[in-house]
Parts: sequence; structure tokens; C-alpha cells
Amino acid sequence: MKLYPNLILEALSKVRYPGTGKNIVEMNMIEDDMRIDGNKVTFSIVFDKPNDPFVKSIIKASETAILTYVSNDVDIKGNITAKAKQILRSEPEKLLSNVKNIVAVSSGKGGVGKSTVAANLAVALARLGYKVGLLDADIYGPSMPKMFNEEEARPYMEEIDGRELIMPVEKYGVKLLSIGFFVDKENALVWRGTMASNALKQLIADAYWGDLDYFFLDLPPGTSDIHLTLVQTLAVTGVIVVTTPQEVALADARKGINMFTGEKINVPVLGLVENMAYFTPAELPENKYYIFGKDGGKKLAEELNVPLLGQIPIVQSICEAGDSGKPVALNESSLTGLAFKNLAHNVVNQIDLRNKTMAPTQRVEIKKNKNG
Ligand code: ADP
Repeated sequence: MKLYPNLILEALSKVRYPGTGKNIVEMNMIEDDMRIDGNKVTFSIVFDKPNDPFVKSIIKASETAILTYVSNDVDIKGNITAKAKQILRSEPEKLLSNVKNIVAVSSGKGGVGKSTVAANLAVALARLGYKVGLLDADIYGPSMPKMFNEEEARPYMEEIDGRELIMPVEKYGVKLLSIGFFVDKENALVWRGTMASNALKQLIADAYWGDLDYFFLDLPPGTSDIHLTLVQTLAVTGVIVVTTPQEVALADARKGINMFTGEKINVPVLGLVENMAYFTPAELPENKYYIFGKDGGKKLAEELNVPLLGQIPIVQSICEAGDSGKPVALNESSLTGLAFKNLAHNVVNQIDLRNKTMAPTQRVEIKKNKNG
């Protein structure tokens, strides 16, 4: 049979929300994100609170209503997402109102060290005395739990001003949340775009970030729904793009920068970080070997007229520190610690300059379609 949204909504109108005498359709609980693909139906149900006691039973009842009143061939089990209403439905301007600067860390390609740079930059700034938050929004490959040696962390909820909020983990002076704290990697990998976007919104809106000077978001590589969700959710102060000096990485970094500066998104680029800029053996710290080519990132920064914020060497200890959960930025006297400290200073200066010379970023408005 051919499925269409009204058929599904009619079935859902048989599901009442306990204690109200009303059904979930008239209560406007069905989000307008319904997708129908053959006999597969996906959509979200919006609840007032993330811990609504009826989430499970309403989802179950909705599945049953669709299978009963539409057809038992409908592929619906597990396809309904629960969303909390307070996610940005109310006054998005107030979101993160005590956060001074929201900085996205992005890369054109995976594996260039974006997460390593984000983690070390956050730690370096915390050590300089700033209040720093870090959200691992690399929803398909969260690596922060490992880099911060917090793989077992399970953040708890606390009631603040009448709202149940997720408390970030505090480590090395950084407030940290990662989707990796809530789902295992395999599960996150199969998430559809909307689920990943909702998870991101929840980690932004339903967490207690408090006062922060810098709030970093480690984005997935490339361009994705997550990027769009982010710029629609928050007024991003600026983006830092991480690249390696290789040609392929530079080409992708160029695309990434163009996406951010394009008319649709229009987020200022704070600058470029050239990671793995040269190889330095630990025993000969003065020697530099440009194994991926010299100054690729620097040249790209010049070409695109964006600042080069730092050149980070490729050093075994950076990789080992990432694996052992102790970022090298914790040790400021090391060559690598120093590189990240310099980067942190440049980022502070660049953000100051940006704030003095440019108007605050506007959130990207979600354009409703004709039916929306
Ligand atoms: P991305 O977030 O871009 O996918 P990661 O930060 O996860 O990349 O880094 C990929 C791998 O490269 C990790 O094993 C990391 O430890 C290593 N790495 C990143 N930067 C450096 C560096 N400057 N020197 C040595 N190893 C690095």
C-alpha cells in the first residue's frame, strides 16, 4: 500500500496522552520531520521534558496504532525518536547566554588531527585560566572520552532552575560532554541525520554549561547535517579549520572554509591550524622534516586570506598522549605543549580581534518549506 503522512497521523490520533483526554496529534506532539521511504516511516514525537514518564509508552502505543490502523507491514519499530520540547523551541537566543565565545573546530577530511587540536587547545586555554567547555559533536566518531581518559564517565542529571540538566564531566579544567558518554560507537554510526542532530541539540540545550569564556565544538569532518544544525542552533563566533599540509587535505580544507564563509552559513573563519606541519624526532627537537610538504597550510591561509593560527609538528608523543588520555598541552614545557600554548594565545587574540571588528554572528534561520 502507498503510505502518506495523513494516514500515519490519523492512526496516531488514536493515541492519547495519559491524564489529558487529548491525543498526541491534537497536542502538537508530532514533529514535522516525517519521512516515508517505501514502507519505512520515521518521525519524532516531542515531549515537554526529556524525562517525561510516558516517553516509552507513547512510543510503543504509537507503533501499535500505526501497525493496527495503517498496516502491519509498516516498518516503524525503532523508527520513532523522542525529542524534548525545551530543545530550542523556547527562546533560542537564551541558549548558552553565559557563554562568551562559541568556536567550531572543523576539518575537510578525517584523520588530520582535528580532535587532537580541539582537545589540546581546550586544555591549553584552561591552563591559561580561561573557563572552557568542549562538546564532542563528532557524533559518528566521538574521540574525546578517550583523549580525556574518561571512557567510563556517565554524566548525571541535576535539577537547575526547575530543569533537569546534564552535568558535563570536568577534566583538566575543561567541561566536557561527548555523545560517546551516552551511546557506544557502533550505535552512533548507524544514526540517521535527524537523530544525530537531535543528540547535538540536546547536548547543547539540555546541559549545564554555565559561565564559559570559550565553548569549543569538535565537528565531524567534511560537511554534514551536524554543521547545519549547529549554525541554526547557535550563533557561532567563528570556526577554526584544521588541515595537514598534504594536497588532498588542503583541497578539502578549502571546501570546508568556503562552506563556512558562503552566504548560507556565513560564520567567520578565525583561522587555519596546520597540523602535522613537520616531523620532529624527540631526540633532535631542532630538526624539522617536512614529510607532507612545506607550509601547505600557510600557503592556503594566504591564498584564502585567513590567519594561520599555528603549525603543530608531528610528534609521537601527541599520538601517545591521545591514546593514554593525557593531552600534551598539560605539559607546557614540552615542545608540543608549547606549540599548543602558542596556538591558544593566537586563538584568544584572533577572537578578540573578530569581536572588535565584526558584528556578532546571527543564527542561521531555518527556512520553513511551503507546508511547514
Ligand atoms: P581527526 O579528529 O581529524 O579525525 P584525530 O585528532 O583523531 O583526527 O587524530 C588522528 C590520529 O592522529 C590520532 O591517532 C592522533 O593521536 C594522531 N595525531 C594527531 N595529530 C598529531 C600530531 N601532531 N602528531 C602525531 N600524531 C598526531
